[in-house]
Amino acid sequence: MNQICERIRAMHGRIQTAAERFGRRPEDIRLLAVSKTHPAATVAAALACGQQAFGENYASELTEKAHALEGRDVTWHFIGPIQGNKTRAVAEIAHWVHAVDRERIARRLSDQRPEALPPLQVCIQVNVSGEASKSGITAAALPALAETVATLPHLQLRGLMAIPAPSEDFDTQRRAFARLRQAREDLIRRGHGLDTLSMGMSDDLEAAIAEGATLVRVGTAIFGSRSG
Ligand SMILES: *Cc1c(COP(=O)(O)O)cnc(C)c1O
Repeated sequence: MNQICERIRAMHGRIQTAAERFGRRPEDIRLLAVSKTHPAATVAAALACGQQAFGENYASELTEKAHALEGRDVTWHFIGPIQGNKTRAVAEIAHWVHAVDRERIARRLSDQRPEALPPLQVCIQVNVSGEASKSGITAAALPALAETVATLPHLQLRGLMAIPAPSEDFDTQRRAFARLRQAREDLIRRGHGLDTLSMGMSDDLEAAIAEGATLVRVGTAIFGSRSG
């Protein structure tokens, strides 16, 4: 078995252990393999091990790899910050987008989503770390953006995403993820049907699973460290 397959298998084991520890069902936690900066051949190697969902941060890389792997059964998640001038590639290629945090970007993505494709599956990025974090919408502004996304014709609101400020302390990690869980519960009370909490990376996925993550985004622990 190659190293990528071994690491993916180990990651499923880690997810399962955390799920059992916190009373979750492992099958409720999906693994997104974050392939940013790694070539299409590496994505192909992970596909051959049964991994199907991949995360990319840069529109140019998404375009290049989706082209190289055209016809393969890949679900592409765009997880990076979305620049206004890069929405078209994301709208045309991605199945999911995780970092929507402004109305203008949401509208562009909906306008540019090709009619022939299913709606783009959207997570709104929420700032759960206050001033320690630059990206994501505040919890206070979230309901209005959720309302907008929910009404746009070519977007489907699926959930929330967060990248907390890094911390090595488990309880600190957990508190940040708990804020995202609470934000989702609040939107559900307002009538939104959100099934996704995109939270947890290589170094903090146990804390995310403890707080209800349904999708963990893992790069380094699968593909090794990124050069550049
Ligand atoms: C790079 C990245 C990840 C993966 O981080 P690792 O620490 O390598 O697992 C997850 N989410 C986002 C948004 C990223 O940019």
